[in-house]
Formats: sequence, structure tokens, C-alpha cells
Amino acid sequence: MMDLGAMLCLRTKPACALCPVADDCVARITHRIGDFPAPRPKKTLPHRAIAVLLMEHGREVFLERRPAAGIWGGLWSLPELSVGEDAESICRARFEAEIVTAVTLPDIEHGFTHFTLTITPRLCVVKRWPARAQEPGCLWLPLQDVAGAALPAPIKKLLRDRAKPRLGSLGLEFAQVAR
Ligand code: SF4
Repeated sequence: MMDLGAMLCLRTKPACALCPVADDCVARITHRIGDFPAPRPKKTLPHRAIAVLLMEHGREVFLERRPAAGIWGGLWSLPELSVGEDAESICRARFEAEIVTAVTLPDIEHGFTHFTLTITPRLCVVKRWPARAQEPGCLWLPLQDVAGAALPAPIKKLLRDRAKPRLGSLGLEFAQVAR
């Protein structure tokens, strides 16, 4: 019976004409061969959610190097926050940044092989480069250079979108900020 399954009754192309149990096969008799075997249930992957601080000044964005261990280890990326953290407070407390505008951008969904990730970008446009955001391990990347930068895929996509010309209020604010 195991040989029958392995050699004749194949999932995609059963060889019913050669099958010794064809006369008794309910699937064949009822024309439901395509219904068997039922598709394997989809594996539900664990889900994680994070926020990222998207600190912008002019047409530049702040990056920091991620720890060597963990996802995106050693890559430059946006600072990671917990979903409930107040991005403006973190921006002020950690970088002593003067904020012009703070908004939450639409979530990004990203799939890894072993879990799915929802990323909520918290945009903080700052008035000038904060001194604390110019220390080792920190980088201000011109948005025009995003395409060639080694960044995690969903972060690169987000920043490429930010690099597109904008005519809305946030686009105008870029013209108002001063270094
Ligand atoms: S007759 Fe039934 S058991 Fe035999 S190969 Fe076709 S589907 Fe499989």
C-alpha cells in the first residue's frame, strides 16, 4: 500500500489507469481525485511587532548600527522601539533633539522564515542634527543614497519611499528646517 502511494497515487498526477485498487477507489468513482489528499493546513507563524524611530533632518535620515546578534545583526537600521513607546520622548531624551513634526506612518508587514513582523514607523522631523546623534555607531544617510546602502529590506523600502519627492506638508517642512 505504501508503494501505491509512492509510485502510483501521486499527489499531483495519480496513475489511475495502472492502479490495482482503481475499481474500489471512491475518489476515482466520484470524480473527486483532485480533492485528495486535502491541502496541508498552513503553518501559522509567530508574530512580532516593533516600532522604529524615523528621525529626519532635511533630506537625511538617522541610522544606527544594530547589535551583532539577532535579526539584521550588524546592519545599519533605524533605531528600534517598543510599539507602546513614545517616539517624541525618546527622541528628546536620547538625542536631545528638537522636534518639528512627529507622525506615525502606515505599518509595514515583513515575513521571515520563522516569524512575521509588523513595523510601525514613527517619523520625527528634527530641527537640526542633534549632537548625540553624531556619535560613533550613528550615521546620517542622505535619502538619495538609500538605494546603494546595505539596509534591512523593509527599512530600505521605507526609506526609498521617503526619498521620493513629496508635495505634502511634510515635504514643505524639509525646506524649513535648519542645520
Ligand atoms: S485509482 Fe484512486 S488510489 Fe488509485 S491512483 Fe487513482 S486516485 Fe489513487
